[in-house]
Amino acid sequence: MTKKKAILWFRQDLRLKDNPALLHAIENDYDILPVFILDDESAGDWKRGGAACWWLHESLQSLNKSLKNNLVLRKGAAGDIISELVKESSASAVFWNRCYEPWRIARDKKIKEELKSSGLDVDTFNASLLWEPWEIKKDDGTPYKVFTPFYRKGCLGKPAPQEPRPTPEKINFAPFKERGTLEDLDLMPSIQWYDGMKKFWQPGEDGAQNRLQDFLEDGLKGYKEDRNRPDMENVSRLSPYLHNGEISPRDVWHKAQIAGVAQGCEKDLDHFCSELGWREFSYALLYHNPDMVRTPLQEKFAKFPWDKNDKALHAWQKGQTGIPIVDAGMRQLWETGWMHNRVRMIVASLLIKNMLLHWHHGEDWFWDTLVDADLANNSASWQWVAGCGADAAPYFRIFNPITQSEKFDPDGDYIRRYVPELKDMPAKYIHQPSEAGPLILQAAGVKLGKNYPMPIVDLKKTRETALEAFQSLKTA
Ligand code: FAD
Repeated sequence: MTKKKAILWFRQDLRLKDNPALLHAIENDYDILPVFILDDESAGDWKRGGAACWWLHESLQSLNKSLKNNLVLRKGAAGDIISELVKESSASAVFWNRCYEPWRIARDKKIKEELKSSGLDVDTFNASLLWEPWEIKKDDGTPYKVFTPFYRKGCLGKPAPQEPRPTPEKINFAPFKERGTLEDLDLMPSIQWYDGMKKFWQPGEDGAQNRLQDFLEDGLKGYKEDRNRPDMENVSRLSPYLHNGEISPRDVWHKAQIAGVAQGCEKDLDHFCSELGWREFSYALLYHNPDMVRTPLQEKFAKFPWDKNDKALHAWQKGQTGIPIVDAGMRQLWETGWMHNRVRMIVASLLIKNMLLHWHHGEDWFWDTLVDADLANNSASWQWVAGCGADAAPYFRIFNPITQSEKFDPDGDYIRRYVPELKDMPAKYIHQPSEAGPLILQAAGVKLGKNYPMPIVDLKKTRETALEAFQSLKTA
């Protein structure tokens, strides 16, 4: 007798462990047809950027291996492809884990209705978040706008995230002929610029578990303070794995709890969990404000008098601003597809508040170059730095990148790693080479304006200009 078949539509849940849609299909005795669809048509402006495409290629390769080469790979409009696959495989059910980007919510709702009206069994599950965005509401039923009550009262007031479920012992795969190949998706860039990323990352479920284990052993203790230090190894670097669902946030949460208690570092643990809470907050903001990807959450900022300067934008993108901590960050991003959170805030602040360039430019550049590019986190964070988001840093908080650099990269090791032109500068001057005398510059082999740029802006003057511009919004 032929067994009933279910399409298991993989999306941002590229794992077998703690995958509720997969477990549901197994527990209900289906033979499974695992499918991944690259649907750039529906994504529109928010189709994956270059670095994220590289990551996805590698991650799908790893997932396909775990699925014993049974993954069906397709490119195109997901609704049409799912319907075709249902016909070709005579599947009677389609299961998937939910995604929360506005374009995906709209698309998935339509697909679900169509499949159900054709008589298919359709079920969706939560694999990406600790709490569903619609579950966390204020007492009056409206969504939170401020992080601390959202997380401390809203999230922590709910039952704790469920324990992660194990990797299934056995999956029965439905037979299928035309599975397609990864090459059909054409995710790899034609120019090989990804060597740096390849050295730095191991995309896929095993890579995610290894990263988590390393972090819990060597990085969790001290996280609360040292998470601010880009020259140290105290952050998890789990963001691309969480974005692609190669690890479940419930798994991260529970393993962190066990490690934090065993190591007696409850404060570090609490802080780490609250950062996972920021991720939940970004997703809730996007869920309730689907336009926030392009529109400031605080309306008055729509009138901000942004500057236009392609040359300056290019210098920022390429790490040629003459402000060493910023250049180190932008080059770390280009080389590895990731940037330390503290440095993300510093480079974003310079772009917005000193260079007066629209945060969309930064948002777009990050989208194309980050391996963890994530619509919710990226747009919420850019709005936060710009001061126009929910619970944002106030507009008058303008980071001084030099002071930040001296505080968080005190010996200049991070700068030396990514800006080799400055590797022989003494720690005292590495943060601001233009303050060093000619003999010091000469001894370090630095020729300002020749082999390392002069600062792109006068930090003091541009700070004042920005404050005036922000002030004008108040009186407008
Ligand atoms: P850890 O410190 O180890 O934190 C663990 C996890 O918590 C992270 O993996 C991430 O999922 C979550 N998290 C941590 N900090 C934040 C935060 N501030 N907001 C939301 N979630 C957080 N993060 C992305 O995942 N994708 C983006 O596209 C993105 N764009 C950003 C743009 C700007 C301008 C800024 C300032 C921040 C951005 N962030 C983004 C948030 C943050 O910088 C990264 O999540 C973090 O640096 C990832 O490193 P980690 O995994 O080592 O973090």
